[in-house]
Amino acid sequence: MSQSRAEERLRILVTAGPTRERIDPVRYLSNRSSGRMGYAIAEAAVELGHEVVLVSGPTARAVPDGVDYVGVESAEDMYQAVERRIGRMEVCIMAAAVSDYRPARPAGQKIKKLRDTLTLELVKTPDILGSARGPMRFSGLLVGFAAETENVAFHAREKLVRKDCDLVAANDVSRSDIGFDAPRNELLLLFRDGREQLLECDAKEHLARRLVAICLAEYRAKVARTEANRGPTE
Ligand code: C5P
Repeated sequence: MSQSRAEERLRILVTAGPTRERIDPVRYLSNRSSGRMGYAIAEAAVELGHEVVLVSGPTARAVPDGVDYVGVESAEDMYQAVERRIGRMEVCIMAAAVSDYRPARPAGQKIKKLRDTLTLELVKTPDILGSARGPMRFSGLLVGFAAETENVAFHAREKLVRKDCDLVAANDVSRSDIGFDAPRNELLLLFRDGREQLLECDAKEHLARRLVAICLAEYRAKVARTEANRGPTE
C-alpha cells in the first residue's frame, strides 16, 4: 500500500449474493439474498474506473459490464475464491450473505421420503470476512455488512471489532420495506474510530455509489496514516 497507488486505479474485491449448501444432489440450504447490493457496489466501483473482482453466489442478476466475475456455490467455494485473490487487492467489500452452517454430510443420492422426521446435522462454514486479516493476511481496507434484526448498531460494532474491519455497513432486516430481496435499503455505517454515518433509505444503486465513494476516501485516509506512521524515509 503506497500513497501514489491510493490515487490510482484500485483493485477491489466484492462478495455478493447468497451461498448454497448442498443437502443432496437436488436440495440445498440458502437464504433470501438477491445479490442486488453487492452487484450495485461492483458496478459503482467499475464506473469510477477501478478494477473489480466480483465473487458471487448464485443470483438472477446480470453480471455488470467490466467486472472480473467469479461464480461460486457454497461458502467453502467462496472462501477459496477470495483466498486465492485477496492478496492483490487494496479494498475488499464483503456484501455476500454467506450461510453460517452447512449439512455435515451431504447425501450422495437424493434423500428418500422414508420417515416422518428427518434430522440434518449442520456444521459451521468458514467465516470469510473473519479470516481476511488473520489467515489471509489482508492489510487493505476491509468492509463488512451486518444484517441485524435488533440492536443494529450494537451488534454491528461488535462484528466490526471481532472481524477487524475498517467499516461495517449495517442494515435492519426486520423491516420488510428494505434489505433482503428489496430494491431499497438504509445503511448505518460504523467506522473503526467510532464515527457513525446514516445513509438514509434509497435505491440500492444510489447507496452503492455513496458507499463506494466513502470506502475510497477511507482507503486513502488509511494509506496516508500508514505513511505518516512510517515517518520520513531518509
Ligand atoms: O457474522 P455475520 O454473518 O452476520 O457477518 C456478516 C458479514 O460477514 C458480511 O459482510 C458477510 O459477507 C460476512 N461473512 C463472511 N463469511 C461468513 C459469514 C459472513 O464473509 N461465513
